[in-house]
Amino acid sequence: MGVTLDLSRASAAPAAPVMRNLSGMTRAELAAALIEAEVVRPEKARMRATQLWRWIHHYGVTDFAAMSDVAKEMRAALAERFTVARPEIVERQVSKDGTRKWLIRTAPGIEVETVYIPDVGRAGALCVSSQVGCTLNCTFCHTGTQALVRNLTAAEIVAQVQIARDDLEEWPSPKEDRRLSNIVFMGMGEPLYNLDNVAAAIDIIADHEGIAISRRRITVSTSGVVPEIPRLGERTQTMLAISLHATNDALREKLVPLNRKYPIAELMAAIKAYPQLSNAKRVTFEYVMLKGVNDSPAEAKALVKLLAGVPAKINLIPFNPWPGTDYECSDWGTIEAFAAILNRAGYASPIRTPRGRDILAACGQLKSESEKLRASARRAAERDAAE
Ligand code: SAH
Ligand code: SF4
Repeated sequence: MGVTLDLSRASAAPAAPVMRNLSGMTRAELAAALIEAEVVRPEKARMRATQLWRWIHHYGVTDFAAMSDVAKEMRAALAERFTVARPEIVERQVSKDGTRKWLIRTAPGIEVETVYIPDVGRAGALCVSSQVGCTLNCTFCHTGTQALVRNLTAAEIVAQVQIARDDLEEWPSPKEDRRLSNIVFMGMGEPLYNLDNVAAAIDIIADHEGIAISRRRITVSTSGVVPEIPRLGERTQTMLAISLHATNDALREKLVPLNRKYPIAELMAAIKAYPQLSNAKRVTFEYVMLKGVNDSPAEAKALVKLLAGVPAKINLIPFNPWPGTDYECSDWGTIEAFAAILNRAGYASPIRTPRGRDILAACGQLKSESEKLRASARRAAERDAAE
């Protein structure tokens, strides 16, 4: 394929300034941006920011032209300096079970996967990513084999929710009968290594005059970054999920190497101190079922013992294999036997049924498969071009 170097830009007038996007800003950032761009006087900034906020986060508009109660001149002034557009959707897939998956390009080289799973939580849950890649390397997780590219900004986290709501046609924010009722930070990345941006995104998503998903319906999952757990509780008041996967340090160190830094006893102490735990506000413990590794009846009993006294839910996750992994998913009978021990100890329906497998929308598989598919499409296109 011939490549011609395009130098036209170098000699042309300076490139147009990058338009700032207002739709992922916090309320304070939004007001500050309006003042800085001199589109409003400082004393009017809060009022104007509230007006724009409702258009962006309650009505979901992606064009200033739709903001019918904003004067025409003001809309034009805004459109000259800012945008409220969405990032590009690179790929969209819908599973036969209703699971939906989007691959979103928020910036060059920054691609984020988001999955909507119906019938989880009150109505349906959106699984969002907090980083591209991950610095941790849990041995059973495919994301863990990919290096960290970078933390996502609050705007990039909020965009995942906005795109899902565009697709589910959930604008303006419905009071009842929502399809997207819950948010789980269980996509790519370790949210507690990006807590400032995660917390700012939660402020936007939970705002009553906008998307208005209550903090009690937002769950942040961590592999156990102990020092950040209290800060998560104080700063966000969201629900906590812990990727436990083992009941003793020797095994947990193999599965979740971060355990060497923060062993189980320290983790449990931080969990017990999480703000306002109660039977209505329980911690979720995630436990991936790995054949012959952590799935014996003795380990189920050890789990019950470890969680005694903690208001807890348990999620047994059937392992999702990926190319190159040595782990296998436990047999279904083994998972059921494990679950039965938990059931007898008072934990209801702890098995998470696999969803969206036909579109590879499962935990630990995020991004990798789409990358592969697109790489093969690229190779095919290059072959065609070469012929
Ligand atoms: N980094 C955070 C959140 C993202 S991972 C954390 O580790 O909690 C979300 C969940 O998917 C975690 O419980 C993780 O252990 C689990 N997971 C990762 N890879 C998996 C796989 N291949 N099969 C099943 N669950 C997996
Ligand atoms: Fe990172 Fe979570 Fe995967 Fe561990 S399980 S590598 S913390 S994304």
